[in-house]
Amino acid sequence: MPLSADSPLTELKGVGPKLAETLAGIGLHKVADLWFHLPLRYEDRSRITPLDALRPGRTALVVARVERADLRFGRRRSLVVSVSDGSGRVLMRLFHFSKSQMQSFVAGQWLQAFGEVRPGPKGLEMVHPQYRLLPDPEAVELSERLTPVYPTTQQVNQTRIRSLVDQALQVLDDNGPRELLPEGVVDGVGGGQLTQALLYVHQPPVDANLQSLAEGRHPMQRRLVFEELLAHQLALRSLRQRVRDHRSMALQGDGRLRQEFLKRLPFRLTAAQQRVIAEVERDLAQDLPMLRLVQGDVGSGKTVVAAMATAAAAEAGAQTAVMAPTELLAEQHLANFAGWLQALGLNVLRLSGKQKTAERRAALAACAEGSAQVIVGTHALFQEAVEFHNLGLVVIDEQHRFGVHQRLALRDKGPGGLCPHQLVMTATPIPRTLAMTVYADLDSSVIDELPPGRTPVQTVVIADARRDEILQRVAAACAEGRQAYWVCTLIEESDALQAEAAEATAQRLHRDLPGLRVGLVHGRLKSEKKTLVMQAFKQGELDLLVATTVIEVGVDVPNASLMVIENAERLGLAQLHQLRGRVGRGSEQSHCVLVYHPPLGELAKARLQAMRDSTDGFEIARRDLELRGPGEVLGTRQSGMANLRVANVMRDADLLPAVQRAADQLLETAPERSEPLIRRWLGDAEKYADV
Ligand code: ADP
Ligand code: MG
Repeated sequence: MPLSADSPLTELKGVGPKLAETLAGIGLHKVADLWFHLPLRYEDRSRITPLDALRPGRTALVVARVERADLRFGRRRSLVVSVSDGSGRVLMRLFHFSKSQMQSFVAGQWLQAFGEVRPGPKGLEMVHPQYRLLPDPEAVELSERLTPVYPTTQQVNQTRIRSLVDQALQVLDDNGPRELLPEGVVDGVGGGQLTQALLYVHQPPVDANLQSLAEGRHPMQRRLVFEELLAHQLALRSLRQRVRDHRSMALQGDGRLRQEFLKRLPFRLTAAQQRVIAEVERDLAQDLPMLRLVQGDVGSGKTVVAAMATAAAAEAGAQTAVMAPTELLAEQHLANFAGWLQALGLNVLRLSGKQKTAERRAALAACAEGSAQVIVGTHALFQEAVEFHNLGLVVIDEQHRFGVHQRLALRDKGPGGLCPHQLVMTATPIPRTLAMTVYADLDSSVIDELPPGRTPVQTVVIADARRDEILQRVAAACAEGRQAYWVCTLIEESDALQAEAAEATAQRLHRDLPGLRVGLVHGRLKSEKKTLVMQAFKQGELDLLVATTVIEVGVDVPNASLMVIENAERLGLAQLHQLRGRVGRGSEQSHCVLVYHPPLGELAKARLQAMRDSTDGFEIARRDLELRGPGEVLGTRQSGMANLRVANVMRDADLLPAVQRAADQLLETAPERSEPLIRRWLGDAEKYADV
């Protein structure tokens, strides 16, 4: 039987059950999977590079003669073979080699070698190039096409996987993949039909523009990128649909609690907060589940928005669950929500794994009976068997640590299997087109305004050798009656080590700044103790607060106008921005001192530069995305961006609006194509649920 798209891989030459199993492990089950198993990059073995034209960092094919071969006994034993072609010389360095290999490198022996060129102590080197001995230079084997390099695993080498893809591609002409893009869309994207694009990308001709292929900007690649982005878009919309197939309580109260809430608030809402609250209220009044993302910079006042939504739910008689990514943030939310809402007669409860049995049992009961209207906990709250009386709203803080999966699991948590409304708040604001892609399953609201009276923080970057200067700054700020943070960072995840380092720093600062009242908080302190120290700092009884990154979230002391962050080069941009958000909350000019330990790597330098240049969370997130890529910034599993094969949402951002339109058009005119498109690019069902 001839091969078809659905033929199992065991029907290919050289594939037995064992190899098939290995291939299944990397998502390759059938012939069609190989079509969409796209190259990571290309190697050019179609032409010979003269040795005097070699450049470090480039990969090249060379033809040359052995001059000599020497065993070196450095840190690692290596065989160094010096070869030349008359124009120049390069050293081939091998760490693993057999005796016969060693003996084959006799002076005058011709060979061809392919590999990456690097600078070495004695000129350019190729470390472990692929090489072949040649009887004479004319015997060189040149490839007729660019050589694709595929993602694979250790058990399956490049030659093997190339041969499998080649076999699969032979079916492409007669039995190729169905074109699933609507016709007009295909023309708009360029790059032609799918089959054509696939063939080109797997087997680019030698005259292909290697540069544009290497950058992923070739029209044929863009054709595939477009389709892949479309598949992701459709997958997220389908997830959204899976939630929206359910019904919710329509939460439309009389506004009484909300009016009371606003009356007691010590400030006026910003216009942006009012707008977003109105958007949320409109959603809540529907009997379809709200799926809304609230983006806003640090300090833009997202918590108040969530509290208003909670009050609205309570007016309609529904419970709200507030979910935070960490225990500390849950504490903070509890303090805020309880402070605002208990005055309105609502019962706000904390649910935590750390609670004593009796306390926890009481909390669970209040939750199940409905005597608690607001329940605050971590994301783990829902992984346990927590029963609600009439859960109408779930507030989820910090989307990037919360999976779509978890959100799907909320579907029937409401009374009678109704789906609670979902309000997601994120402090990692991202550009609009990107948000529409990554959060395509959510409607989005943006708080694009900070409360009045905030002054942008001035940031300086200083090497740790200038510690004296930094101490002077701290002393000067405190002498003026202001307060300061000193943030200690450690790479180690361990609370214990962080705590130790913070303690040592606090002692040292105590010695170096004898006039100041120094306090200390870290993750190891009991929460009562932590609260006491924070209160003392808030009330001005401490001048300097030494802290680990536990103060990243929630802490709010307007009189603190200076923040020193040690080893700032170790932290990511999002974290630095969150930390810095603790100052600049009053009307005085605030400062942030980013202290680094030289030498600085390129990435760290770029990060610190970004912090110095901007205080705008959107801009900082954009830089972060550029530097690290969306998978890292947004959390890979949640954003699904880890599953992308050819697309890169930053590089391909210009396609995103057209992708949105194509998704609309496809769902309108050919909805039956959505499922196969998703399956083609995202694979089997489990993976797809993990978008
Ligand atoms: P984030 O968006 O970072 O979660 P918060 O909700 O924690 O911000 O708010 C930061 C601080 O600003 C809090 O102290 C909050 O009470 C205060 N705040 C919020 N909205 C306003 C406003 N409209 N005017 C003045 N202060 C506000
Ligand atoms: Mg917050």
